[in-house]
Amino acid sequence: MRILLVEDEPRMANVIAKGLRENSYAVDIAEDGDVALYQASINDYDLIVLDVLLPKRDGFEVCRALRARGDATPILMLTARATVDDRLNGFDAGADDYLTKPFSFRELLARIRALLRRDSQLRPDVFQLDDLVVDSGSHRVSRASREIELTAKEYALLEFLARRAGQLVSRTDIAAHVWDDSFDPFSNTIEVYMNRLRKKIDDEHAVKLLHTRRGEGYILESRN
Ligand code: CA
Repeated sequence: MRILLVEDEPRMANVIAKGLRENSYAVDIAEDGDVALYQASINDYDLIVLDVLLPKRDGFEVCRALRARGDATPILMLTARATVDDRLNGFDAGADDYLTKPFSFRELLARIRALLRRDSQLRPDVFQLDDLVVDSGSHRVSRASREIELTAKEYALLEFLARRAGQLVSRTDIAAHVWDDSFDPFSNTIEVYMNRLRKKIDDEHAVKLLHTRRGEGYILESRN
């Protein structure tokens, strides 16, 4: 899941981005309203965290501009001011939810999870494929009832494939939703991560779940 974080205070932006990355989200940071609109036009974000007080265009303007051009990405607005007016302005502008600074990181994570769930009513919290279980609430993964330790990025990749189980997932799709804009499309990063995942998920099992379709992408499915 890839998030655009729009926040002009570098320290705040870095703390939030670091925490989100530790929780398996890919994060791009935009430091003003213009950059935010540009980033959202070239990337397909799963969610936007949008500060209200920004240079150039404020969060309300950014929100209105996104909705005006038909962008339906879920938006969570952040503000230091907790007035009713602000909240109503945010919803009027097309925001989906609202969080007042200062907030706890746990609360931010909970709101993000709720918005991502709402955006995709058909997606369950727990994915099961054969004896593989991926719990998107706790980020726990197990196979044949044995817990598997994954890094944040390995987990993000597996969850992305699990959400599309049985479908061919292209490298472009993976790069767009699992990695941020520092991703180098000419690198073999995705292959490296797929190999690590395969080792952890499939190596000790007769039934393989991770499959490569050469030159096309990857599929998570049970094959005997
Ligand atoms: Ca700000």
